[in-house]
Amino acid sequence: MFVNDDKKILAIVGGGSISVSVVCQLVDEIIGAGGCDIGCVHIFEPCSRIGAGLAYQLDGPSNLLNTRAAAMSPIHSKPDHFIKWLRANEDKWEAFFPQVVISDEVFLPRGLFGLYLENIFQDAKQALHALGIPVHHVRSMVTGMVVMNSGYLLRTCDERFFADNVVLALGNLQSSDWKHLLLEPGFFTSPYPCSTLVKNVHDLQSVCVLGSGLSAIDAVVALADAGHQGKLIMASRGGRLPSVRGNQSARCSSRTFTRENIRALIKRSHYHLSLAQVYQLLVDEVFQLQGFKVDIDSILHKDAGPHHYLDIEVRDAKGQERVWQSVLYSLNESIDLIWHYLDDVDKARFEAEFKSQWLAYRVSFPMQNAIKLQTLIHNDQLAVFGGVRRTWRDRSSSQFATCINDHRRSFRATIYSDVLINSAVFTTDVTRCSSPLVRQMLDSGLAAAHPFGGIDVNFHTNELRTCTGALLPGVYALGALTSGTHFWTNAMNVNARLASNIVRLLVQPARVESHGLLLLPNTASTQVSSKLTVQAARPDKGDQA
Ligand SMILES: Cc1cc2nc3c(=O)[nH]c(=O)nc-3n(C[C@H](O)[C@H](O)[C@H](O)COP(=O)(O)OP(=O)(O)OC[C@H]3O[C@@H](n4cnc5c(N)ncnc54)[C@H](O)[C@@H]3O)c2cc1C
Repeated sequence: MFVNDDKKILAIVGGGSISVSVVCQLVDEIIGAGGCDIGCVHIFEPCSRIGAGLAYQLDGPSNLLNTRAAAMSPIHSKPDHFIKWLRANEDKWEAFFPQVVISDEVFLPRGLFGLYLENIFQDAKQALHALGIPVHHVRSMVTGMVVMNSGYLLRTCDERFFADNVVLALGNLQSSDWKHLLLEPGFFTSPYPCSTLVKNVHDLQSVCVLGSGLSAIDAVVALADAGHQGKLIMASRGGRLPSVRGNQSARCSSRTFTRENIRALIKRSHYHLSLAQVYQLLVDEVFQLQGFKVDIDSILHKDAGPHHYLDIEVRDAKGQERVWQSVLYSLNESIDLIWHYLDDVDKARFEAEFKSQWLAYRVSFPMQNAIKLQTLIHNDQLAVFGGVRRTWRDRSSSQFATCINDHRRSFRATIYSDVLINSAVFTTDVTRCSSPLVRQMLDSGLAAAHPFGGIDVNFHTNELRTCTGALLPGVYALGALTSGTHFWTNAMNVNARLASNIVRLLVQPARVESHGLLLLPNTASTQVSSKLTVQAARPDKGDQA
């Protein structure tokens, strides 16, 4: 489809929560600016509905948000938009979630957040229409992109679309690992949707879930809620469940990690932060807020096995205010700045030595599900192991075999199960992802892998960098695709803030004028990289974010 008009065409690839964040914030930005030069918006999303994406699809009610209701919003300037919408629009969700009771602190079903996203997307679509900007949902995957005139040509399986500006919001990238088990009956590449999973696993089958993070918990809790009787195993490398979200944590509010404070610190530190400096800031902040010295050992419980650790976590999360948890959450406001001003040596050290611990403590899970897991463990139905080595289909028993060498529990065994569920679905390594679009962009040189995950984008604008380091004007990425640049792209409020920056750029036409590109009509994607003119890469120094 080609449109020749003075107005610009905006393409958003992906129709999940970040896409909704862009569209909703676009409405406010255009109204605030008194107009813009966007003529129409194409949203590419193969699913029939735009909004929920993978994370917030209508699924089992035990798939809970890991964020308090009052802190979930796709609109950066309105952090309580979700909870306000729920209170004002009961008629739109009550029939789907009759058991749900709303409060600021509650961890609501993710499907409810998805329903909200679908609704506000429709409202935003109508608002844009009223502003003379039609929004089209193209129900196709984008499989390729090439440079064309002063814009881009997006390829789906049967059509091609021109766009002046492109926002890539593809979500978490599916790993192409596990190919050797793909066709084996009883192997699930992902726990989602959990409603389908529980229908396809027999009550008495033994189940091994690979992973012990939030997706693994979703799978186990969904099976248990559906009355599963068979043995459940969670097997991961680390063998630790995430920490449990305290139900009293909301009361203390950290001020150290505001953007203003972190910017000031960065200036004082001559535009360089160190891991040691950030660690000390965290420790000092917890001390300030709780009034006594931080005892790291009493948080980490390094020697506790996974079952004992869960008992400790449930006890601590119930009994006391978890100040350290609030402080970790408060990092959301400036975490991208902190990451950006660490040097590569510190970044690499963090990835190698501390990342898995960071994930286990930062990505906590709600008490409701912690108690369910605890009950399963106490009833000897669930066991959690670390030290997963490899998994295969054992031909003699026709079961899946998972080799475990768990140092912490001095346990070495091969576990056999009827069902194997892979919960470690995602990868940040774009060279190992299964997205045809990402692979084509890497192959053609339009995008380059970032050494710390995702693709390389400009820190301030989120514009893509090609394989030569040049910027690809008017092409932006958000979410997991930018994890190497922004580090923490797993939280709605972080993604909403980054989306608001892009929306501002899109509505200011002068900022997004395409320049420096050759006219390449009908050029094959593989030819493009060599012909792309290099627009001098802007230095990423100075914080304009
Ligand atoms: C299971 C899970 C639970 C989570 N829970 C929370 C939570 O409780 N709180 C929180 O703050 N964050 C949570 N997150 C973090 C989450 O990643 C982000 O908040 C957010 O959902 C990411 O949104 P997205 O739009 O980038 O991705 P998605 O919601 O995955 O949407 C991406 C969409 O892009 C489409 N797509 C992909 N490739 C193409 C293509 N080539 N062409 C066309 N369409 C394409 C897909 O079909 C998909 O619908 C969770 C993440 C997951 C995976």
